[in-house]
Amino acid sequence: MNIAVIGTGMVGRTLAARLAQLGHDVTIGTRDPEVTLARTEPDAMGAPGFGTWAAENPGIRVAAFGDAARGAELIVNATNGSASIEALRLAGASDRAGTIILDIANPLDFSAGMPPTLFVKDTSSLGEQIQDAFPTARVVKSLNTLNADLMADPGRLPESSTVFVSGDDAEAKQVVTGLLEQFGHADIIDLGDLSTARGTEMLLPVWLRLWGALGTAEFNFKIVR
Ligand code: NAP
Repeated sequence: MNIAVIGTGMVGRTLAARLAQLGHDVTIGTRDPEVTLARTEPDAMGAPGFGTWAAENPGIRVAAFGDAARGAELIVNATNGSASIEALRLAGASDRAGTIILDIANPLDFSAGMPPTLFVKDTSSLGEQIQDAFPTARVVKSLNTLNADLMADPGRLPESSTVFVSGDDAEAKQVVTGLLEQFGHADIIDLGDLSTARGTEMLLPVWLRLWGALGTAEFNFKIVR
C-alpha cells in the first residue's frame, strides 16, 4: 500500500520503518525536509537526530507533508496533537475524497507542565476534530494507547495485549485492522464510531501514571473477558 507517515518523531519513524519492512511503499512527511534532515544530534531523550535515522533507513523517502501525502492511500497522523490539524492541512488531507487517516496523535497539553492535560475530552476528541476539519477523509483512531515500539511490534511483550479502533467508516477500519494484524496485533477491539476515540484518548492520563509507576513504557493494556 502507498502510505504517507506524517511525523518525524519516534512514532513516525518507528511505524515508517515497520511498514517499509512489511513491504509497503512509505514516505515520511515533515514541514521542511532540508531542516529536518540537518538534525543529526541526538534529542533530549537520546534518540538519534532525524538525519542520522534517515541515513540508516534509505528505503524510506523523506518529503514535505504535501509531497509525502500526494497519491497516498493512507495517511498515518503521527504529529504532535496540538499541530495535527495544521500538519494534515499542509498534507492536503482533504484533496482526495476517501483518503484514510490513521490517527495516532493524542491531545496532550503541556502548557502547565507535567503531567499534561487533555486539550479536548469528554464531549469531543482529537480524532473527531480531525474528521470535522477534513470531512471527506475517513479517520480511524488507533494505536494511541501504547508506546511506539509496541505499536509496531506487540510481540516485544511476553503475552498478547489489546489495541482499539474507532471510526465512522467500516471499510477504513477494516484496512487499518489489516495493518494492525500485519504488525502482530491479535486482540483488536472495534469500539464503534469515532466518538469512541474520546475514551481511548482519555486513557492517556492513566497511561502516563502507569509509565511513572512502572518506570518503563514497555507495557500495554490487556482487556481480559
Ligand atoms: P511529536 O514530537 O509529538 O511530533 C513530532 C511531529 O509533529 C513532527 O513531524 C513535527 O514536524 C510535527 N509538528 C510539531 N509542531 C508542528 C507544527 N506547528 N506544525 C506542523 N507540524 C508540527 O512526535 P511523537 O513523540 O512521535 O508523537 C507523535 C504523536 O503520537 C503525538 O500526538 C503523541 O501524543 C502520539 N503518541 C506518541 C506515543 C509515543 O510512544 N511517543 C505513543 C502514543 C501516541 P517536523 O517533522 O517538521 O518537525
